[in-house]
Amino acid sequence: MELITVPKNAIIKYGQLWNGISPAADGPGRIYIADGLIAPSLAGAQEAPLLDFSRYFLMPALIDGHVHFTFPDGTAPSGRAREYLQAGVFAARDAGNKDGFLPAYPPFLLLQSGYAIHQKGRYGSAMGLGAANLGEALALIDKLAAQGASQVKIVASGIFSFTSFGRVGSATFTTDELKQLVRQAKGHGLPVMAHASGDEAVRRCLEAGVDSIEHAYFLSLESLREMAARGTYWLPTLAPVDAQLSDPGLAKQLTPQMHSIISRSLARHLEMVAEGSVLGVRIVAGTDAGAPGVAHGRGLWREIVLLQQAGMSAAAALQAATSTAATACNLSQAGTVAAGKKPYLLLLDGNPLADPAVLENPAALLLPA
Ligand SMILES: [Zn+2]
Repeated sequence: MELITVPKNAIIKYGQLWNGISPAADGPGRIYIADGLIAPSLAGAQEAPLLDFSRYFLMPALIDGHVHFTFPDGTAPSGRAREYLQAGVFAARDAGNKDGFLPAYPPFLLLQSGYAIHQKGRYGSAMGLGAANLGEALALIDKLAAQGASQVKIVASGIFSFTSFGRVGSATFTTDELKQLVRQAKGHGLPVMAHASGDEAVRRCLEAGVDSIEHAYFLSLESLREMAARGTYWLPTLAPVDAQLSDPGLAKQLTPQMHSIISRSLARHLEMVAEGSVLGVRIVAGTDAGAPGVAHGRGLWREIVLLQQAGMSAAAALQAATSTAATACNLSQAGTVAAGKKPYLLLLDGNPLADPAVLENPAALLLPA
């Protein structure tokens, strides 16, 4: 796996191309990079140096919409950004940690929330700061914005139970409180990502106008329809629950009853992903990397496979980790291979629309100069 900086002016020759949106790939062909951006045509390209990738499949580089960069050990190992880049993931959105803001790790792009905001005494202390009341939560948003947050992360519920099917840690902030938190974040121009599982918390977050709902285990069909109507992004985070079952070290710690409950919970969630996809919900791949059994970087390959297992087409599952993830994460210059975008690109030895396993051995990650 090579990291290649694309010169400001270059012609990229490819064998096949998937642009991040289309149902299928095409090629062979060439794209022209002019002044650091993908040009609308090859006009004027003659003078530019040629990058000959005609043996390879070209697609947008991957984005993970939900990670915990400092997990599992509470510190940021310097090699972690490299793990993402080596997996073809050039950017990830951090969903909060208890150390607040982290250094930058160029060329990897970490979109930081700093501290996730939760209600003091309720779920969320491992990934942020608790607010004793609404005023404290609003003040924390101001502070995070001043420190350069890319988005605000709010914890609006607990997590689902591994011992009682369908039981979820209850919703925390009220709809009115959530509305005020969203308004405060918007005042700073920041999107809000909300941790919510259980339908009550999901409904409150939707009504409050959050930008993305994270997890949403045990949401209802009605909420899915509402998500589709509002254009709210959904990050179903299948990988951490799948890991409980598929990681041998984790699976052996489960009682048969827990195994059964987690299996049923995941099966239900996969069905909701299929429903959401049909309804046109904007589904984004987010791994919760750093959670037990979910590797930083490589975990995204598994999330893409799980989205396909749920019933999404290969192109839709890849969109969730490219074009849709880019819009959810405000990365307007990435996510597609299209005129005006920067060349955040991935080179593969085969077509991931035919076989997602080719993602597991990326040939190179191309990054803009
Ligand atoms: Zn998370």
